[in-house]
Amino acid sequence: MSPAGSQPQSYHVACFCLGGTPHFDVTVQIEQGHVVDVVPGKSHSAVELGRVALVDGLVNAHTHLEFSLLSQPIPTHGRFTDWIRSVVKHRQAHQDSTADAIRAGIRESLSAGTTLIGEIATTGWSAFDYAAAGCPTVVFQEVLGQSPERVSQQVQLARSVVETAAVKLSPGISPHAPYSTHIDLVRESVAIARMRGCPVAMHLAETSSELELLSSQTGEFRELLSDFGIWNENLFPTPRRALDYLHVLAEAPRALIVHGNYLDDEELRFIAAQPQMTLVYCPRTHFAFGHDPHPWRRLLKMGGRVAIGTDSRASNPDLSLFAELQFLARQHPDISPWELLQAGSITGRTALDPASNASPTAANLTLIALGEIQDANFGQTLFQPTSHVCGTMIQGNWVWRNTDGSSIAR
Ligand SMILES: [Zn+2]
Repeated sequence: MSPAGSQPQSYHVACFCLGGTPHFDVTVQIEQGHVVDVVPGKSHSAVELGRVALVDGLVNAHTHLEFSLLSQPIPTHGRFTDWIRSVVKHRQAHQDSTADAIRAGIRESLSAGTTLIGEIATTGWSAFDYAAAGCPTVVFQEVLGQSPERVSQQVQLARSVVETAAVKLSPGISPHAPYSTHIDLVRESVAIARMRGCPVAMHLAETSSELELLSSQTGEFRELLSDFGIWNENLFPTPRRALDYLHVLAEAPRALIVHGNYLDDEELRFIAAQPQMTLVYCPRTHFAFGHDPHPWRRLLKMGGRVAIGTDSRASNPDLSLFAELQFLARQHPDISPWELLQAGSITGRTALDPASNASPTAANLTLIALGEIQDANFGQTLFQPTSHVCGTMIQGNWVWRNTDGSSIAR
């Protein structure tokens, strides 16, 4: 099934897209893990792949693989903090199965066409769990806490992960969210990221209750922190907003701003003006919580960068980045599928792995079986409901292929 990446391979496809530019009815030549030639029509030695699109490899810019064994999401229709309480309970009850969950999540991701993952890891993981599963993953160690003791212990943890794990994988640091993470811990995380040249990722402006906590120290998050025995009157001594955190995060070599559901125009303009910052939108999770409309298109109009994530199976029925793009195509039929593909592939890759810019011909590709043909250029068919992922190529190797018509295999 998997020809070695070093062997020349040649495929005839209906559509090919690398670096954002689509070509139609072409033969693609792949050698030593790179696309070395694209010629019109079918070359005599090419393998016929049929009515398929071979496109820039999908990138899941935000997930938490530790929840990958959940068969259905934790209910999202109540208060957001009730969902958080359920997530904490689930984590405590399933600590022994973290490694299994990571591997299952990576298998599922590969079978959904994902070629790079931005993963938030907490405890119970090892570099081996990720390396063995065969999908390049940037592992962000999550840090959180509000007390001075906890902050200093979490700084040590972040330091040790980026120093030791960097030998085996690409590390990052994730200060969790404003309500759970002291701003000093956010600053320290950014300082370590600067020293090591690694990225940071932070959940920010996810709910209106988070903004209420920051601005007036009231609401459901104050109740949550009180119930967890964390609340004290000095946690947020002066009113804050998401912009205060953006200013800190902008000092990191690269920063992924996760969710940003409630960022205002001034904050979006700030992100748009910082080329090292990328907003990660998780469409189906955003929808499941019933948030206000997401500002991702406003950010794109301002010239900002938007990548796409699935978030975890705690809020989403699966880990398919392709399904996120199909969802967006349904919700926004006026957006070009090539623009959606850019958000679901190149933008996430650049945010997670800037080295990818230096090798724009690397054969990290997703193979999509196209549904009913409705236009000559296949554009509108790319993400229609009857299209599905049928192959995943990483560095010229098929790491997953499916020819029976189904796309998800756990
Ligand atoms: Zn998340």
